[in-house]
Amino acid sequence: MKKILFSLLMLSAVMVKAEAHSNDKFDDYNCFAVVAGKNATVDGSVLLAHNEDDSGEQMLNIYTVPRNNEKGTNKYVWIEFPGMKVADAALNEYGVAVVSDACRSREDRFDVTDGGVVYEVRMTVAKYARSARHGVDLVKELMEKRGYKHSGRTYIIADCNEAWVCALVRGRHWVAQRVPDDKVMIIPNNYCIKEVDLSDTANFCGSPDIITYAQERGWYNPEVDGEFSFKKAYSAPATYHADRNYIRHMSALNHVTGNDYTTDPNTYPFAVKANRKIGIADMIQILASHGENVSVKVKHKKTPLHPSCICVDRTINASIFQLRSWLPTEVGSLIWTTGGRPCYELFVPWYAGMSKSPKGFERFATAAEAEEKHFSDAKDMRINYPKFAAWKFISFWEWLLTDYNKYIGVTKQNVGKMQEELFKNQSAFEESLKACYDSKTKQITDRAKLEKTLNGYTAKTYDRYFKLLDKIRKSQK
Ligand SMILES: [Zn+2]
Repeated sequence: MKKILFSLLMLSAVMVKAEAHSNDKFDDYNCFAVVAGKNATVDGSVLLAHNEDDSGEQMLNIYTVPRNNEKGTNKYVWIEFPGMKVADAALNEYGVAVVSDACRSREDRFDVTDGGVVYEVRMTVAKYARSARHGVDLVKELMEKRGYKHSGRTYIIADCNEAWVCALVRGRHWVAQRVPDDKVMIIPNNYCIKEVDLSDTANFCGSPDIITYAQERGWYNPEVDGEFSFKKAYSAPATYHADRNYIRHMSALNHVTGNDYTTDPNTYPFAVKANRKIGIADMIQILASHGENVSVKVKHKKTPLHPSCICVDRTINASIFQLRSWLPTEVGSLIWTTGGRPCYELFVPWYAGMSKSPKGFERFATAAEAEEKHFSDAKDMRINYPKFAAWKFISFWEWLLTDYNKYIGVTKQNVGKMQEELFKNQSAFEESLKACYDSKTKQITDRAKLEKTLNGYTAKTYDRYFKLLDKIRKSQK
């Protein structure tokens, strides 16, 4: 039995790997994001939801990085995948969140200084941004000084007041747009900004020649194309029309509006008005979509086990940033995050005010060392760091794949119950935190106690969750 189990495990590992590589050339299934403005959500928070999709086995680390007054850097919660340039996410002490989705451009010129930037973009925002808008200014600075090295990417930067999407193109071209407060925006792996009006500085920011450059390159012809559409002009055509992109876009659009959409990405608005207020449970449903609500199915996916749409085999982390303006940032801004696929994993809250990660989430004693070795120490992680939380999530996924159809029901039922409980408990838990701050001024009055309580809450949740995962596996023997 052991032998059979082992070969099944090996087989599933090979399958996951092969699938991941077959997708690489399309550069899609490389993350997915949904942003809801503060007037579009149930509780008035800005919500930013994101699936992190990557090939290969990745080790999830989550650091609570302290402020460095000498260097002038912020305190932040850092979701780190060692060795990865475009997988990390962060939430800093100003409640600024940053994630990204690959969006391939058609740019073939390489106008950068000192090699250009990639990883620096998210780290700069995490370390220095004091608001989402300030984050956009920092991106502008990086684009002007260095330029972007990869083909293209959309960074989503949000705080408790607003969210901005920054579409970067290889070289110096870029454009950012503010997500309307009453709308929901969806970003698969193609640019989603359409009309650009740089004179409207409250809603746009970008390179001044964004339209004229497209004309010069023959990517936009006003006589043929009509009004300028950034996504149409700058997207790599293959990515733009990839079925995996429009199918995921359709699924999310349908979820928030209840309407059906065509398969033509040109018909999708920049952002939509939802048919109701959107909550965290909605975001989980969108991130977990296996395409149940769309008639067009993903064609390239061969894995017979885990169905695929927005939630895919290669989704290694899903995060929902809940950003609330009426509470101190330490309490009001948090990440609900998973150790794997959102269709069955628990979303565990990490508050911006935490000062210590639970055991098993930081492979180094300090975040400074982790950052220094982010690229150099990224091989054989499972061998070198066997006792970390990351493998608990991954080994559960491997077990699930040994008989997905048999195990998914009992898993969803048990984890779903714990998730419900966490949601229900949120207000009572946050009520108890009021003892640590002044509700009128939002000033923290007992930081030590606040940090200890927040740290303990997350740690205890993981303790319970890992026990639950063990229990589920044992119950199926
Ligand atoms: Zn799934």
